[in-house]
Amino acid sequence: MFNEEFHLEQPIRWGMVGGGRGSQIGYIHRNSALRDRLFTLCAGAFDVNEERGREFGVNWGVAPERCYPDYKTMFAEEAKRPDGIQAVSIATPNFTHYEILKAALEAGLHAICEKPLCFTTEQAEELVSLAKKQNRIVGVTYGYTGAQMVHQARRMIQEGVLGEIRIINMQFAHGYHSSAVEANDPGTKWRVTPEKAGPSYVLGDVGTHALFLAETMVPNLKIEKLMCARQSFVKSRAPLEDNAFVLIQYDNGAVGNLWASCVNAGSTHQQKIRVVGEKASIEWWDEHPNQLIFEEQGRPVQILDRGQGYLYQDDEAITCDRMGGGHAEGLFESWANLYRRFATAMDRVIHGESSNVVMDDIWFPNIRDGAEGVRFIENCVRSSDQDSVWVNYT
Ligand code: NAD
Repeated sequence: MFNEEFHLEQPIRWGMVGGGRGSQIGYIHRNSALRDRLFTLCAGAFDVNEERGREFGVNWGVAPERCYPDYKTMFAEEAKRPDGIQAVSIATPNFTHYEILKAALEAGLHAICEKPLCFTTEQAEELVSLAKKQNRIVGVTYGYTGAQMVHQARRMIQEGVLGEIRIINMQFAHGYHSSAVEANDPGTKWRVTPEKAGPSYVLGDVGTHALFLAETMVPNLKIEKLMCARQSFVKSRAPLEDNAFVLIQYDNGAVGNLWASCVNAGSTHQQKIRVVGEKASIEWWDEHPNQLIFEEQGRPVQILDRGQGYLYQDDEAITCDRMGGGHAEGLFESWANLYRRFATAMDRVIHGESSNVVMDDIWFPNIRDGAEGVRFIENCVRSSDQDSVWVNYT
């Protein structure tokens, strides 16, 4: 059960770049970081619009002099204070992540960065090296992977309950952008603009979530080659895709497929991961995160429920149960579980431990995982741009 009494000697002094008024993702960052009193929100450059950002920060309760016009000023001014921020979350559109994360690391800050981390593998490798050199933790908000049942699945797979893994079926296919909603929605507009979104739309926006869920459940699989076909059903979005199919060959003979879409009309989310082994399969669906479907060949379907005695009781995930079974937990708890891990890792580095980018005994989506997402997108684009040929994974 969850230990509400766990705390750090001092909550981590934390700032935000982006995530201001009306943003899609700002609130869940704040909610998750502040939930367990492991972070204190001290400063922010919350908005691309200076005035709106300051007003938002002040209304929220941040001291006016610590609501900054931009991230550069924030990092410089906070570095001068004895009580300056120690960590920052970056919740801005994709094209800004690379420069802001680089500046944060150069300023000696720990960071939590939205996906995709950057646009190219070269940039991603540079960021990984920088984090290593600076001995700083970077968490990446693959937010669904804090859900306890995902870790139950990971452990079942690790213990061989499914037998050898053969097939990974991944999808995140919603229908919210089945028409050109970007005409009246700035939050969608930047997502379909290559200079702002990067080399892909749905593969980066939703596909990497499904990919990382699979990587979390089956961490030892390595992609050997893939083939990607992508389409722009709303023509004005070209060259960025609003639908994509990827076929994956892993190096141990297993195969996978991934469907990323925003034009799956009528669908609210449809993020589902199915892992098929030689003896049994499991399936997890983010719209029903408290359940894990377990199907053994020749036996009735079992629906495993969060918080029950038949789940692994010695797993780190079970200590994340904030409520007993039967009460629904969801995305907010999943994110809070990740922020708790980020805080624990950061605090240990603050107290003198060396991170080497990951901490061996705390699992969390780290900068290498973020870099893998960028690599995946790059390989998918390379395949689809050659008329969807198989490409060796580089
Ligand atoms: P949004 O357009 O709704 O909001 C972006 C916010 O960033 C706005 O407040 C804007 O004013 C601010 N901003 C933009 N440029 C800035 C700058 N240079 N300095 C300071 N603030 C700036 O976008 P969103 O949907 O919230 O997405 C933000 C990021 O989060 C994207 O990278 C997106 O991929 C990611 N995201 C992740 C998840 C997830 O589940 N992890 C979900 C949604 C979005």
